[in-house]
Amino acid sequence: MDELRYQIDLLKAMNQKLVLQEHIYKTVCDMSSAAMLFYSFERDEAYTLGNWDNMFDFKVRDMKDISRFYELIDEAYVLKLRESLFLEKKGEKETSIECKMRDSMSWLRFHVWVIYENDCPSEKVIVIHNVTKYHSQNEELEYMAYYDALTGLYNRNYFVRKLGEFVRRAEEEQSIVSTMIIDIDDFRKINDGRGIVVGDELVQQFGFLLKELSEGDENLIACHLSSDVYCFAIYDPVGNRSVETIAQKIRDSVRDPFRMSNGEEIKITVSIGVAEYPEAARNALELINFAEIVMYKGKALGKNTVQYFDTPILNEFLNSIDMENRLKETVIRNGFEMYYQPQFYSGNKKLRGAEALIRWFDEEKGMIGPDKFISIAEKNGSIIEIGKWVIEQSVMQYAKWREKYGMRFIMSINISALQYKRDDFVDFILRVLRRYNVSPSEIELEITESILIEDFQSVMDRLCRLRDTGVRISLDDFGTGYSSLSYLKKLPIDTLKIDKSFIDTVLNDSSTRIITESIINMADALGMETIAEGVELEQQYRYLHSVGCDVIQGYLFGKPQSAEDFEKLLDRL
Ligand code: C2E
Ligand code: MG
Ligand code: MG
Repeated sequence: MDELRYQIDLLKAMNQKLVLQEHIYKTVCDMSSAAMLFYSFERDEAYTLGNWDNMFDFKVRDMKDISRFYELIDEAYVLKLRESLFLEKKGEKETSIECKMRDSMSWLRFHVWVIYENDCPSEKVIVIHNVTKYHSQNEELEYMAYYDALTGLYNRNYFVRKLGEFVRRAEEEQSIVSTMIIDIDDFRKINDGRGIVVGDELVQQFGFLLKELSEGDENLIACHLSSDVYCFAIYDPVGNRSVETIAQKIRDSVRDPFRMSNGEEIKITVSIGVAEYPEAARNALELINFAEIVMYKGKALGKNTVQYFDTPILNEFLNSIDMENRLKETVIRNGFEMYYQPQFYSGNKKLRGAEALIRWFDEEKGMIGPDKFISIAEKNGSIIEIGKWVIEQSVMQYAKWREKYGMRFIMSINISALQYKRDDFVDFILRVLRRYNVSPSEIELEITESILIEDFQSVMDRLCRLRDTGVRISLDDFGTGYSSLSYLKKLPIDTLKIDKSFIDTVLNDSSTRIITESIINMADALGMETIAEGVELEQQYRYLHSVGCDVIQGYLFGKPQSAEDFEKLLDRL
């Protein structure tokens, strides 16, 4: 009896232990966010556990029922999933696969194990996780890797890759790849004037238009390169996707103004630069680069243009880069020299003054004129340093001559618009004058009308401050710019320099004579002095004298010359 009781107690205890264990397993499975399936080969029975009932609305009793999954998941994954769910057919032990659901953005991961006994499959366990969240993060990352968030166009990196692929394909198929850079004209003005929120919206709206234009043709891709710059890559640019057709479509698309969400309307034009494989370049980065160079060239020629790559443009560009580098070196080692051109009163032919004109002596290229490098120096900012050197050098030279020859005249110095923008400009000039003991009325600053375009008021304030100290101001190249009379009246100007282009034609062209005479009369009425620039012929001088031009400057009476040569001229006076 005792024996029997003992056996019963033992069984009870074992049973309790089993119940406990089962309870533990069940609890763990139920707590899991995964759906699980246990299948016994021997009994051909399946059990579902864990989160199954929440994830699926069907049960699986045997392995045939598992085919229900094939209806749920995207067709593209069905074959692979079938292989994975029956991996024992290949004698494998473990596998996993991720499948996209058919009608939603959800993703499932199936992990399958098969347990073998004596080389025969005995049990199979399938654990299914919902991995949608993980996938959407991945998709977002992928999106960020390929697309520009603002416009939805491809981003630069991906575009460069695709353009590279086009080029390789064109190499094989002996075809052409066009690269078009598209840049919104005057975007900075829009951005500065209307704010970056509006600027961004414009970039976005124009981007959407380009996206529409590029969709539906795998040989045409568009990207947002940066700020207001976009790029198209066109494989085999013919017919519908020829550069001309696309450029026309882009232009048509900006014909109507853009309507911003704040109600403002903005009308834009665009400049387009085109470079093609194999003519312009043989790799993606160079194609983009060259298309950009010609686009800027187009802008310089007047915006709203389509400019095609050609070799002279590239050479000009490379040349200017080369110049820029040399110029920087020259600024460092101070390889400039000042030349001086005399100015004479037209009546008594006495010396009125000298215009200081900078020269650059380059070891390789010899003398380079300011027309070739001042604009480069303005672009790379070195004009500030060069300009300071010019002022100091000219004032110092004048002080020496006044001392040596005991005579006063006017030293005329050209000033770039950028120099006026500096807060310290006025103080700098006054400091230099004090240092060399030169009175303000002995120097004249030549300005051009370009300085009046931006920030008129602060330029005016500085000019007036200088003028108040006695410094003379002259307006250079008069007649070539806006020459607005209203400006003239407002500006503190002592002298008008009539541009050489008038003097060149004054003898042959009666309308030039009418303009020249009216400039002289007007200047006279406003109490200004007139200087004729570029006088080369005796007849030009005689005519100018007869119509009342005050001062003559030109090769006829003296070329720009080194300080040494200018002294010879002073010696003779
Ligand atoms: P600009 O101020 O109008 O100077 C007059 C230009 O006409 C000078 O050219 C001068 O050499 C040239 N010229 C004078 N008379 C004649 C003539 O009878 N026939 C011909 N064919 N040309 C004549 P340059 O020296 O090449 O200077 C060109 C421009 O570069 C200047 O035009 C001025 O705007 C700028 N520049 C020159 N030096 C400086 C400087 O130190 N600083 C700045 N910011 N600009 C300068
Ligand atoms: Mg000048
Ligand atoms: Mg001039």
